[in-house]
Amino acid sequence: MQPLNPWFGKAAIVGIIAAIIVIRAPFGRQSRKIPIAASHRSPRETVVLALAWLGSMILPLLWVFSPLFAIAEYPLNSVIFAAGVLVAASGLWLFRQSHIELGKNWSISLDLREGHQLVTSGLYRHLRHPMYTSIFLCALGQALVVPNWIVGPANLVAFFVLFAVRVQPEERMMAEKFGDQYRSYLAKTKRLIPGIW
Ligand code: SAH
Repeated sequence: MQPLNPWFGKAAIVGIIAAIIVIRAPFGRQSRKIPIAASHRSPRETVVLALAWLGSMILPLLWVFSPLFAIAEYPLNSVIFAAGVLVAASGLWLFRQSHIELGKNWSISLDLREGHQLVTSGLYRHLRHPMYTSIFLCALGQALVVPNWIVGPANLVAFFVLFAVRVQPEERMMAEKFGDQYRSYLAKTKRLIPGIW
């Protein structure tokens, strides 16, 4: 099979990044207007957030617009590319839906907002972290559409580190704030994969 022109991968990753920015922008604007009631951000949080920016935006854009990672290039298989587009599209849908459902309770980091409410319906009825599931799907999509050994998996690696550092402090913060309501929610839901984990 003839490999695809790498510009397909470049167009796809620019599209994924643009979609992430467009989906998140209104929620970012909204969240800046709602005062933070309690912040649980740690220096570790700041480091892993920076890592996530690097893996999801900066490295892919450097790959598209500069020859910096040319050494790690491999041929782009059309079936893998198509699978990557589908995985990323489902991730983007989930990313948008989880932002809509969290609404005013969303924050980029570990913050509790004024009037924070525990969301337990919609996607959150089954999963505690559907937005993180969506980011893993987008990152897997990136790994499949970017034919480069460094930039392809960069977001999977970065987000894995962010998730590993964040998930327990986030659940602890929510349990402190919402007490038994969160503990019974915890008993009824999975973290990332419905019915499994
Ligand atoms: N972990 C969630 C949310 C990511 S955004 C997900 O993957 O879908 C992170 C912020 O959302 C946290 O700082 C917390 O303030 C808030 N949050 C997380 N779960 C929540 C819930 N069930 N209801 C309301 N706010 C929640």
